[in-house]
Amino acid sequence: MNEEKKKIKARRKRKRMISMMIITIVMLASIGVLCYVAHKASYQSEIILNGEETVSIPWYGEYKEDGASAYSYYKLFGRGEKEIPVDISGNPDPKHPGDYTITYTAKDGDKVLEAKRTVTVQPMSDEQRAALIAIRDAFTKKTVDDYPEDQKIIFLTFDDGPGAYTERLLGILDKYDVKATFFVTQNFPDYKNMIGEEARRGHTVAVHTKSHQPKQVYTSEEAFWSDIEAMNDIIEEQTGERSKFMRFLGGGSNTISKYNPGIMTKLTQSVEAHGYQYFDWNVSSGDSDGTKTAEGCLQNLKSELGERRVSVVLCHDIKEYLVDCMEDFIPWALDNGYVFMPIYDGAPTAHHKVFN
Ligand SMILES: [Zn+2]
Repeated sequence: MNEEKKKIKARRKRKRMISMMIITIVMLASIGVLCYVAHKASYQSEIILNGEETVSIPWYGEYKEDGASAYSYYKLFGRGEKEIPVDISGNPDPKHPGDYTITYTAKDGDKVLEAKRTVTVQPMSDEQRAALIAIRDAFTKKTVDDYPEDQKIIFLTFDDGPGAYTERLLGILDKYDVKATFFVTQNFPDYKNMIGEEARRGHTVAVHTKSHQPKQVYTSEEAFWSDIEAMNDIIEEQTGERSKFMRFLGGGSNTISKYNPGIMTKLTQSVEAHGYQYFDWNVSSGDSDGTKTAEGCLQNLKSELGERRVSVVLCHDIKEYLVDCMEDFIPWALDNGYVFMPIYDGAPTAHHKVFN
C-alpha cells in the first residue's frame, strides 16, 4: 500500500515538473518573441539638419554648408545605429539676393527621408552701397584736363553686355589696372550680377537699353524712356546708384529708328531734361561691323586711334573675339603712351551727327 502511494506521488511530482517546465519554456519563448517583435517595430530612421533651419547671409557673403545627418536605429534597445548618406540639392548664389531652398534627402530602403533649409541672401546693405559709390568716385575724380595737352586718352566703352565673356574681360582690365565704361543691357539676364561686379572693380556703369530691341525702343519717346529707366532700376539694384550716362541703341546717328521719323532729334534734345548725358564714339573696334577676329579688331583700333587726343572707343563685351583682342590691345596702348579713363560727369561725349 505504501509503496503504491509513493509511486503515485512520484509520478504526480514528475508530471508537475514537466508541466512547469513546459509552461516556463512557453513563457520564455513568448517573451522572446514579444521582445523580438517589439524590437523590430521600434526600427526608425530619420534625417536631422546640422545647423539652423533658416540662414541669412549678406549680399556677396559666404554660405557655409553645414549639411544634414541621417541614420537608422532601433529605439527599444538603442542598437544597430547606422548612418545613411545624404544628398544635397540647391545652391544659394550670394550674388543674387533672394530666398533659396536647400533640400537634403537620404534613402532608407524604399523610404525617402527629406529635410529642407531656407537660405536668404540679403539685398545690398547701406554700407555696401556707400562702399560702391566710394569706389566709383575714386576712379572718376580725374578729368581729361588733369592730363597734359599731348597726353593721348582712351575711353574704352563696352556695349550690349553683360554676357558670357564679361567676367573674363574684367580680369584682363584688372591685370592692367585699366578702368572702362560698360553700357549695359538685359540681353543676357543670367549675367545681371556682372553689372555689380563692374562697379565694384571701379568701372563706370551706364545705360544702353534694357530690351536692346530697336523696333521697340524707338516706337515713341515714352517707350524709349521707360526702357531706359527700367534698365537703370537694375543698375541701381546692382550698383547702389542710378547712372547718369547713356548710349543710344545704334548711337545718336542711327537710322534703324527711321520707321519713326524725327525720333532721334527729339530724343537727343531731351536727354538732358531726363537727367542724362549721352555718349557716342569716335573710334570703333569694328567688332559688330563685319570684323570677326581679334587680329582684325586690333588693326581697326590701331588705325582709327591715329593722332586723336581723346578717343571714345566702341566695343562689345558680348563678342568673344573682341575680348581676345583686349589681351593684345591694352598692353599695346599702354606701351604706346595712352592712358585709359572711365566715363565721368562731363567726360567727352563724341556726339555723332543726328540723321533722323
Ligand atoms: Zn547696342
